[in-house]
Amino acid sequence: MVTIETYRKRRQKLAQALPPASIAIIPGAVEVLRNGDAHYRFRQDSDFYYLTGFEEPQALLLITAGQETQSVLFHLPKDPIQEQWTGYRLGQEDACAVLGVDASYSIEALPNMLAQYFEGRHLVYYPMGRFPEWEIQILAAWQQVKKQGRRGVQCPELFGDLTSLLAPFRLIKSDEEIQLMRQAADVTCRAHHRAMRAAPTAGYEYELEAEILYEVTRSGCRGVAYDSIVAAGNQACILHYTNNNQPLMPGQLVLIDAGAEYQNYAADVTRSFPINGRFTTEQRLIYELVLAAQSAGIACIRPGVFWPEIQHAILQVLTAGLVDLKILQGHVDDLIAEQAYKPFYMHSSGHWLGLDVHDCGAYKIREEWQRLAPGMVLTVEPGLYLSPHLQGLHPRWQGIGVRIEDDLLVTANGFENLTESLVKAPDDLEAYISG
Ligand code: MG
Ligand code: MG
Repeated sequence: MVTIETYRKRRQKLAQALPPASIAIIPGAVEVLRNGDAHYRFRQDSDFYYLTGFEEPQALLLITAGQETQSVLFHLPKDPIQEQWTGYRLGQEDACAVLGVDASYSIEALPNMLAQYFEGRHLVYYPMGRFPEWEIQILAAWQQVKKQGRRGVQCPELFGDLTSLLAPFRLIKSDEEIQLMRQAADVTCRAHHRAMRAAPTAGYEYELEAEILYEVTRSGCRGVAYDSIVAAGNQACILHYTNNNQPLMPGQLVLIDAGAEYQNYAADVTRSFPINGRFTTEQRLIYELVLAAQSAGIACIRPGVFWPEIQHAILQVLTAGLVDLKILQGHVDDLIAEQAYKPFYMHSSGHWLGLDVHDCGAYKIREEWQRLAPGMVLTVEPGLYLSPHLQGLHPRWQGIGVRIEDDLLVTANGFENLTESLVKAPDDLEAYISG
C-alpha cells in the first residue's frame, strides 16, 4: 500500500525538478466509450496515479515550481444524483485531507484557473500529444493569457514534454512499489500454473485464458495488465495474437503471455509448453535454445550494464543455436552482423515494467544507452517464431513458436527474478502439466 506521504514526496520531487517559473500539468485519464453508451472499465493514467493515488476520472493535477510549491487538484464535484448512478466521489471538501494535495477545486473551474496559473510563467510541462481533450483546454487557456500581452501580462513561451521529467523517477521503483510488483508477479505465476494444469483437458485457447482470468481476479487483482495472449500451434508465431479462439490440439505447443495488474502495477510473463504435457523432439530443441538464450540474457543483469548488452547475449546464443540446428548457415558473428536471425526473432530483449506494461523510462539518453541500476524492473523475453510461412524453412520446424518471459528486479549486486516460482525447465514443465 502506497501511503499519502509517499504521494506527497513524489509531488515534491517533481516540483523540485521544475525549472524556475514553470508549472507541470498532469491530466488524469478520461472515460472511453466502448460501444453504444457502454464505457471501457476506467483505468487511471499512470503518471497521474503515481503522483496522487487518485482513481476518479476527469481529474487534473497542477504542480508549480519554486518556494511556494503547490499541488493543486481539479476533479469532479460531489453530486448526489450522479453518485447514485456511478458511485462515490471524493469531492473538494475532503480532497486535501485524503490525498494530501495543497488545494482542491472543481474541474469546472479549470479553464479560468489554468489561465491564472499561466500568468507570469515561462515554461509549461504536460504530457504532449497524449490527451487531445485536455490539450485543447490547456492551449485555450494559454491563448487567453497570450491575448493579455498588451496589458503586460507574461505568458509562457515554452512547452515541454512532462515525460522527460517524470519518467526517470518512475523508472526506479521504491520498496513500496517492489512489494506491489511482487504481488502482481506471484498472482501471475499462480495463474500460469493453473492454465498449465488445465491444458491437457481444455478444448480451446479461450478456456486457458479463462483460467488465467479466474486466478487473477480471485486473487484481488481487478484484471490483467494487458489482453492475454493464448496462442496454440501456428498462432504462437503471431507476436500479439489475442483472438484466443482456436482449438487446442494434442502435439501442439501453446504460448501464454499474460500478467496480472495489482494496484495498477503490472506483471508480464510468458511460458510456452506442450498442451498434452510432452514436447516433441523439435519442440524441445527450440524450447531449450530459447531457454538458454533467456538464461544468458538474465545473467547479464546487474548495475552498470548497458541496456543492449542483454540483447547481445541473447543474439549470440540464439544465432549459434540456429546454426547448430542447421536453420541458419554461416559464421555466427557474420550472421549476427547481417541480422540473419530477424525472420525468427524480430523483437528486442524486453522492456521496463511498472505501472505500465511497457513502462516509461529512456532506453537511450542522447548518444548513451541506459545503464541498469538498482530498483529498475525489466522483462527478459527472447523467442523463436518458426512461422509456417517462412520460405526455405524445413517442414520439421514449421509452426513452432516459443517465447519465455520473466520479470527481473535489478538489485545492488545483480538481480532478483520476481517470477522465479513459475515452472520453466522442460522436464519440470512436462511433469507439472501432467499433474
Ligand atoms: Mg509479455
Ligand atoms: Mg513483455
